[in-house]
Amino acid sequence: MSDQLVVMAIKGAFFEFLSNNQKQRTIKEIVDMLTSVLKKELCLSHTVFYSYNEDLDSLTPFMNVKCYSFQVDPHDLHSGKLYHFGEQTFIPIIQNDKIHGLIECKEFDTNRFSSSILEEIIKTCTSFYTHGLKLVQLTENEQKYERLYGLTEKLHSFMNKDDVLVGLITTLQSLFQEYIFYLFLSQDSEKHEDLPIKDWRFDYQDGNEMAMEAYVTGKAQRSIDKENLQTVLYSPLKGKQGVYGVLQVVANHGVELRDEQTNFITLLANAAGTALENAQLYEQSKRLIKDLQLINEASHQLNKNLRLTDTMTYITSRIMDAFKADEVGFFYVNQDGSIQVFPGSTSFFHTDEVKVYIQYIQEKVEMDLEGRIMGDITSALKNVLYPSVMAVPMIQSESLIGCALILHKKPYHFSFDMFKLLQSLIHHSTLALTNSLLREELETLVNTDPLTQLFSRSYLKNRIENAMEMNQKGTFVLIDIDNFKKINDTYGHQIGDEVLVQVANIIKSSIRENDIGARWGGEELAIYLPHVELGVGVAIAERILKRVRENTSPIVTISCGIANWNAEININFNQLFSRADKALYSAKGDGKNQVVIHA
Ligand code: GH3
Ligand code: MG
Ligand code: MG
Repeated sequence: MSDQLVVMAIKGAFFEFLSNNQKQRTIKEIVDMLTSVLKKELCLSHTVFYSYNEDLDSLTPFMNVKCYSFQVDPHDLHSGKLYHFGEQTFIPIIQNDKIHGLIECKEFDTNRFSSSILEEIIKTCTSFYTHGLKLVQLTENEQKYERLYGLTEKLHSFMNKDDVLVGLITTLQSLFQEYIFYLFLSQDSEKHEDLPIKDWRFDYQDGNEMAMEAYVTGKAQRSIDKENLQTVLYSPLKGKQGVYGVLQVVANHGVELRDEQTNFITLLANAAGTALENAQLYEQSKRLIKDLQLINEASHQLNKNLRLTDTMTYITSRIMDAFKADEVGFFYVNQDGSIQVFPGSTSFFHTDEVKVYIQYIQEKVEMDLEGRIMGDITSALKNVLYPSVMAVPMIQSESLIGCALILHKKPYHFSFDMFKLLQSLIHHSTLALTNSLLREELETLVNTDPLTQLFSRSYLKNRIENAMEMNQKGTFVLIDIDNFKKINDTYGHQIGDEVLVQVANIIKSSIRENDIGARWGGEELAIYLPHVELGVGVAIAERILKRVRENTSPIVTISCGIANWNAEININFNQLFSRADKALYSAKGDGKNQVVIHA
């Protein structure tokens, strides 16, 4: 075949390919066409297309064909002239000084052609490749910007930050399979399995400084590693108010990261930044609304004038919920250093381990009456179970009435936002707490006999009436001090009072927490024993009788009348009292210093 015919054949094949009205052309098709036509028409044993990477000055086999990569000096390449490297001959694709690539032509018998024919073949290849490339880029650009528009819209429709990030990464991965993508985020994101998140703190070898630069300046950065044939792009995820992270794009094995792609990725990263910002604002406003609801509900609930235990239990449960806390408690440290834990606190507050926390916090809070948030208290307190601590003082009329302490097992569990919310919640709860405290103090005052500190008669009566409605049985003991008038007459009223207190203390120490000891009036005392049968009641009365006789000074004795009730003995309070009174009367008549059961 004459030289001219070879040129014609090549041109013809290229022309036919380009004029074939196909829209979706890819670079691979262009390269395949170029290499296969040359192989056939120039009778070559093998052809490989190497694309030129300007950043790296390197030539890499196109589409990861298994072949060597190598670096060239661009000055050695001239358009229209064959390039020789060792044994190999290459057709350069150079247009307007831009090097696109080289085609390796194995067993190219160059002597067959005159230099002008060779030049024409090279020009034909160059013009085919650059034309094809332009066509591909045009359609690619059109598609990409169409997709960019669609994606931006999609990213902005997400209300959740993780969804935005997943959307960004999956999109990029499907559009640019030749690159690897990573994310550096400015805020802790829940570890998300679908996201290739890198940690700022590590990876120092791995471009962390460049990522930081992109984050701080808000401008995309590029790093080029010629030795490892790697180009990396750091594109900030930039919104209107700040930078939310950095997208890292890694092109390995000499794969090119062209300006068009960089521009496209940067645009998409910015769109993601704005979408992240929107999602964050949305999450923030949602949280604020939730916080307000919490405070509103809490205030409403607390204004119901609950009992102290109910108030505190309510606050504790709201705090546990809102902050996902492990332990919540309220305490007050008395002048003598003893710790008083308010009801409603979680069980940890009734253990010895809580003391180190309370001492540490109390010291700080007393200084300035300010709250504290600590991400990891183990730097100050060794070997404690809960590193995350929030403490907020409860202050009423400028005085410290207690302190709230919230704990968590995970360090840095509480955020500053949570702390602010806690402050506001405690602020709102403090008045309710003081009210409950005052009310309870007042009630105790009303229900307690001031001399003996036993319950009052009216309180006892109420409790018995309640018990007779709710329980199945109970025993009532009426006690009268024998010949008390004589004590008064002999030692004076003050000693009389002291003896009364001695007897009251013996009663208190002889009964359990749920039993009720009361001053019935004058030197008459009474005990109600809920759920207790007659026999047990008698034993308790006998024990008290013995203790009074043995432990009072001056010595007094007592007389006891006992009555009980249960399903068979169906009586009301007045009847119960009157039965005990009759028994007491018998005891007196029978020589005093004894227990008599109602007959
Ligand atoms: P009896 O064994 O029959 O009960 O003789 P008694 O002297 O105890 O009986 P009485 O009811 O006649 O006297 C009760 C006395 O208890 C009269 C009163 O002065 C005295 N008393 C009542 N309340 C108090 C008190 O709060 N303090 C003192 N010191 N004495 C009281
Ligand atoms: Mg009496
Ligand atoms: Mg008496």
